Amino acid sequence: MLIVMQAQATEEQIRRVCDKVESLGYRAHSMPGAQRTAIGITGNKGEVESGTLEEMPGVQEVIRVSKPYKLVSRDVKPDNSVIKFPGSPVTIGGADLVIMAGPCGIESREQAFATAEPLARAGAQFFRGGAYKPRTSPYSFQGMGEDGLKIMAEVRDRFGLLIVTEAVDYESLDLVEKYADMIQIGARNMQNFSLLKRAGRARKPVLLKRGIAATLEEFLMAAEYIMSEGNYNVVLCERGVRTFADHTRNTLDLSVVPAVQRLSHLPIVVDPSHGTGKRNKVTPLSRAAVAVGADGLIIEVHHDPDRALSDGMQSLYPEQFDALMVQVRQIAAVLGRNVAEAGTPVPATVSK
Ligand code: PEP
Ligand code: MN
Repeated sequence: MLIVMQAQATEEQIRRVCDKVESLGYRAHSMPGAQRTAIGITGNKGEVESGTLEEMPGVQEVIRVSKPYKLVSRDVKPDNSVIKFPGSPVTIGGADLVIMAGPCGIESREQAFATAEPLARAGAQFFRGGAYKPRTSPYSFQGMGEDGLKIMAEVRDRFGLLIVTEAVDYESLDLVEKYADMIQIGARNMQNFSLLKRAGRARKPVLLKRGIAATLEEFLMAAEYIMSEGNYNVVLCERGVRTFADHTRNTLDLSVVPAVQRLSHLPIVVDPSHGTGKRNKVTPLSRAAVAVGADGLIIEVHHDPDRALSDGMQSLYPEQFDALMVQVRQIAAVLGRNVAEAGTPVPATVSK
């Protein structure tokens, strides 16, 4: 159920409607939009008795939402969501494309700094890197844990990059929420519903990666889990799905970008690194992702990919990332969107 408020409804009227919804035993989600505020109702088992709500001052109409997802839907919020980061000019979902880049995993302070410096210089906004790595083998590098998060926080201070990193369980989510600017939920955890709910109670935006074999509806329902707990700052990420094709690690499903944009107001970024698993395919698919209308890219880059402890085969060399940025900047311009210029001031010496 969705309550659409009149364009001129006052804050007080919106608050009264929310209070009324809560007094009926449901949860009210007030979603301000460009034209009007809508209030999503969740927690109802069946039809909500809409009569009294319809008569309240400031209410335009009460409508039934037939789709299984409600808060992620454009029915609730027709205009695109733009995610903001306190104290930073960076946004996701507006005219500026967001570029997130960094190694698969944080391996040492030297590696993180040596990789971050050229990324900041090339115009990236976010430094990515896992401190908790969900690996297929228990014998593979599992990440540095909290020490890795501390290194990322230092990278933020040194280079002015925002930090996005994965949480794999409750314990790591507490720490990621403390150190990072954005909490990544990985493909393997897209349907870890208790983790999604915990992310929904976090105070930081969430980057939600599409599950390895998730349909569009399952992907949107995972975002709905997060939003239903009150965290509306969700960015979706297409990272490839499992198919019969074996020329790439996964099949990057770029058609999901316009499909998501039709149904949802949430931003969507593309990860061509996990989407292809091959370094030589990352730049072409990055170009395609920007052309298809993605709100940004998340790219694995390593200062020495041949010695990376994870995903070296799909990690770009910093020079390749520079070239990628030059290309996607031109493609973005065709669509009236911007990729930040190279030349972000970076202090001259990198402290060890
Ligand atoms: C990652 O971003 O390093 C990662 C593990 O991604 P995914 O969850 O998409 O496999
Ligand atoms: Mn990786």
